[in-house]
Amino acid sequence: MEIKVTLTDSPKAKPADESKLGFGQIFTDHMFLMDYSNEKGWHDPRIVPYGPIPLDPSAACFHYAQEIFEGMKAYRTAEGKIQFFRPQENFKRLNASCGRLVIPPLDEKLLLDSLKKLVEIEKDWVPHEKDTSLYIRPFIISNQAVLGVHPSKTYIYCVILSPSGAYYKGGLNPVKIYVETKYVRAVKGGMGMVKTGGNYAASLIAQEEAEKEGYSQVLWLDGVERKYIEEVGAMNVFFKIGDEIVTPELSGSILPGITRKSVLEVLRSWGLKVSERRLSVDELMKAAQDGTLEEAWGTGTAAVISPIGELKCNDIVTTINGNKIGPLSQKLYDTLTDLQWGRSKDPFGWIEPCC
Ligand SMILES: *Cc1c(COP(=O)(O)O)cnc(C)c1O
Repeated sequence: MEIKVTLTDSPKAKPADESKLGFGQIFTDHMFLMDYSNEKGWHDPRIVPYGPIPLDPSAACFHYAQEIFEGMKAYRTAEGKIQFFRPQENFKRLNASCGRLVIPPLDEKLLLDSLKKLVEIEKDWVPHEKDTSLYIRPFIISNQAVLGVHPSKTYIYCVILSPSGAYYKGGLNPVKIYVETKYVRAVKGGMGMVKTGGNYAASLIAQEEAEKEGYSQVLWLDGVERKYIEEVGAMNVFFKIGDEIVTPELSGSILPGITRKSVLEVLRSWGLKVSERRLSVDELMKAAQDGTLEEAWGTGTAAVISPIGELKCNDIVTTINGNKIGPLSQKLYDTLTDLQWGRSKDPFGWIEPCC
């Protein structure tokens, strides 16, 4: 399919101070759009000036949340080249999300080709300062104008781009988290393994209450037994307990993170003992109290590695590694970010050049 390009005649000024970018606050000059109808399938791929999308008030996405999204980044190397990190994985996951929400699947090659074309047009928007990146948000919304509860007959696929600042300013500061015992994020058979807005809507109240208590994230437990660790906020989670590194197995209610997958592959390439298994909160708190819990960290595209320095469960508060980032967390962060920003050779084949 040919991608039509319509360039803006009023480009915006690029941010002057890249140290103040923050996350997801400004958007580039163009976006990618594609439509779906039962008659034409996915059609009319196009790059157009960034702007509002007209939607009928009865559009399905407003009422029944038939929508999915992805999150990834483009990185600028020291040589000025722009590159992606495992973008094929994001598009594979997008199609998996489509399956769960009964959205028609897309051609993954077209998704990658069109992303490259969009980012090439916007390449001057990829920031230059250390640890900054261009955040990429592909998403699909259902837009059939009808109130019946059934899969929409029409959809929009859209990609927007947002120059984003360094996640960490002045070192990786460990976060404080608590075990969430009141709310659940997802249950097996639900949508926990899918990147869909509904999961985030369900998590907002827990996040609000955690912040009020001075915690930055919650540690989610499984929604059935309320016993096994699942994720931390919107990140996957790892624990180093003695010489074993444990992350919860993908149970159906956990989002299969691409950073999680990459961390597992890196750890295994280093010959370390890694387990994807069920980890109960009792086992975790016991390890935290007897000192065998050496390190804990979250993984996700935004932060890459987010060390956990304090863990609270009911009334018990424990500190991990003296509330400092541990050596393994630091080494993982350095290894992944060196690959992403092109500071080291890529032995895994994870880097996808753009332009
Ligand atoms: C996106 C996301 C992650 C992390 O996935 P990455 O592919 O590593 O960015 C983890 N948990 C949830 C709930 C997510 O939405």
